[in-house]
Amino acid sequence: MDPNTQVQYLKGVGPRKASLLKRLEVQTVRDLLWHLPRAWLDRSRLTPLPQLVPGAQQTAVAMVRSARLRRARGGMTIFEADLEGDGGHASAAWFNQPFLADRIRPGQFLLLSGQVRVDQDARQFTHPEYEILADGGTDDALSGGRIVPVYPLTAGLTQRMLRVLVRAALDEAAVHLRDPLPPALRERLCLPDLSWALERVHFPVAPEDADKARDRLAFDEFAALQLAFGLARRRRDRAEAAIPLCPAGLLQQQLRTALPFALTDGQEHVLSEILADMARPGPMNRLLQGDVGSGKTVVAALAILAAAEVGVQSAYLAPTEILAAQQAQLFEQWFGPLGVKSALLLGRTPAAERRRLHAALAAGEIAVLVGTHAILGVGVEFSRLGFVVVDEQHRFGVLQRQRLRDKGEHGAVVGERAAAAGEVSPHCLVMSATPIPRTLSLTLYGDLDVSLLREMPAGRVSPITRLVDDRRRAPMLRWIADRLREGERAFFVHPLVEESELVDLRDATSAVEELKQHPSFAGIEIGLLHGRMKGPEKDLVVQRFRDGKVPCLVTTTVVEVGVDIPRATIMVIEHPDRFGLSQLHQLRGRIGRGGGASHLFLMASAKGPAHARLQVLVRHADGFQVAEEDLRLRGPGEFLGTAQSGLPRFRVADLVRDRDLPVRARAEAERILAEDPDLTAPEHAELRALVQYLYGARMRLYEVG
Ligand code: ADP
Ligand code: MG
Repeated sequence: MDPNTQVQYLKGVGPRKASLLKRLEVQTVRDLLWHLPRAWLDRSRLTPLPQLVPGAQQTAVAMVRSARLRRARGGMTIFEADLEGDGGHASAAWFNQPFLADRIRPGQFLLLSGQVRVDQDARQFTHPEYEILADGGTDDALSGGRIVPVYPLTAGLTQRMLRVLVRAALDEAAVHLRDPLPPALRERLCLPDLSWALERVHFPVAPEDADKARDRLAFDEFAALQLAFGLARRRRDRAEAAIPLCPAGLLQQQLRTALPFALTDGQEHVLSEILADMARPGPMNRLLQGDVGSGKTVVAALAILAAAEVGVQSAYLAPTEILAAQQAQLFEQWFGPLGVKSALLLGRTPAAERRRLHAALAAGEIAVLVGTHAILGVGVEFSRLGFVVVDEQHRFGVLQRQRLRDKGEHGAVVGERAAAAGEVSPHCLVMSATPIPRTLSLTLYGDLDVSLLREMPAGRVSPITRLVDDRRRAPMLRWIADRLREGERAFFVHPLVEESELVDLRDATSAVEELKQHPSFAGIEIGLLHGRMKGPEKDLVVQRFRDGKVPCLVTTTVVEVGVDIPRATIMVIEHPDRFGLSQLHQLRGRIGRGGGASHLFLMASAKGPAHARLQVLVRHADGFQVAEEDLRLRGPGEFLGTAQSGLPRFRVADLVRDRDLPVRARAEAERILAEDPDLTAPEHAELRALVQYLYGARMRLYEVG
């Protein structure tokens, strides 16, 4: 049977079961083979009836001596069977399943599995799973006498039904599946072949079979994903044209001269990767990954100047209005003296100003437009857009990126408009604010080229991180107050403790009051920044903090502190256990930017459950290491901050358990595509089918058509 056959043509599946299976997203026989167990039960040990004990899950084989259907009070029915075997007796009872009377008959052999109740001498299986054995033997039994699969179910289907159907699918179709993985690859990675893996993942013979089989299928899933990414990339390269940007580099030189620092080797390296991409006639799609404070902004700025020098416009998308405003201010300062015009466009920009900006953009007078993602939606027309930077504050950015992707790929909104106008796609640079473990970035950003910035600017001292028990709060506050009087600045961060922003606000407001009441804070101005404030109000608070008029800032949300304030040297985080480690690291990156010592205090009781986890931050200053730990401890969904994080839905693969697989899968995918760039070679037909099967329809991004 062809694995692509609709499942209702499989023996034992009628229209009703077919429609139930559809709820499990099983439509074809292949889907059924890929409907993998969520667990396995070791029922290989059969217990003789006389040895059944109360309580535990047990499996037994017995003959039905007699059976009867009884009506109990309240309209309930009980179907009871008397059993004998191994020189002993027992019974089994099922409630409200009167139809069993037509199925279970005296003389049949049953395999039973479940809880046993013992009353005096009578042993009874209560509502057990059962299977009728054809000839009294357990050789062909699917539900006991072996390790049995446990499947994700939907109402109307039972484990037993699924086991029978999967068995049929394996018998009918699995033999016709050709292994998509080339034999050489399988040998190199010691992977079992596909039919073995499918057979043993459903029906393991030995306990270790299931793992080995599962790992092989997880590899298939990752490999197919990496191939899909590779094919999508290649297709994009061919389909889209970009403006090749080959400036002499004068503007860049001028900015470099004006900067108070020289680029690190790491920055030079990633910049050269970016500029090389931008010099090509196909659009750049690159992710710049670097730890907080590693200096990604100046790299982006130099790339923007490369575009500006040849008269090409850039768009810079920041995740929040505050960061957009900060960025615009910085560009003004850097680009203004070079005669390169930048502008800021926000959702709240007044209509008249907006009209003026639109006109200036369309006339090509503005070289760089800074804003939030909102600027992509408001009918902004560039005269010659060639470069889009997405500064994607990790966590918040993922959702926004997803939204962008829903409309098209990064910059594709702009790109589509440009293409419709007979123009070309912009080069696109995505910057992640927090390192993402390679496993995850390959899975999430596999369609992008990646530049890694692992080096920090010289002289940067990472903050001293300490866990502080609440009893030490008073001395800590005294110490902080002294520092503030000497001109330093401190953040007090309150996380989103409650779903409701109002409650958080109350917490933060009372924190402000508490600090004001505290004797050591006498005479120190304390500001409050929260998510419900209007834009201009926020700007004012941040400005006063920056100037030092208000040296102490209590804030509710994480986003708002994503600011670059060199004199901020102290941060206190309340309820740090509510944050992920990567977020805490991201927050920590906001202090100590001006060189010199800085301090992070995590208010965590030494007895609290999060204590050990928070120690990771004390131990590791490197964001990449923190991210690895964070992923390991919380899993990818939480790590990324939302279930809708843009990750593909895997059937087998698990980004924590399989953390080495994506890297290997990527290498193998590249090896395959190097020889067969479109995956059209006959020996790759099955592989192509797998890619199409797993990722073909899901997202435009993975389209491989
Ligand atoms: P991030 O990578 O987190 O976006 P930024 O680009 O905001 O980091 O840079 C952090 C700080 O480091 C900024 O104040 C910036 O001016 C400074 N900086 C960037 N590159 C260097 C360098 N090569 N030497 C010294 N300071 C640098
Ligand atoms: Mg940044």
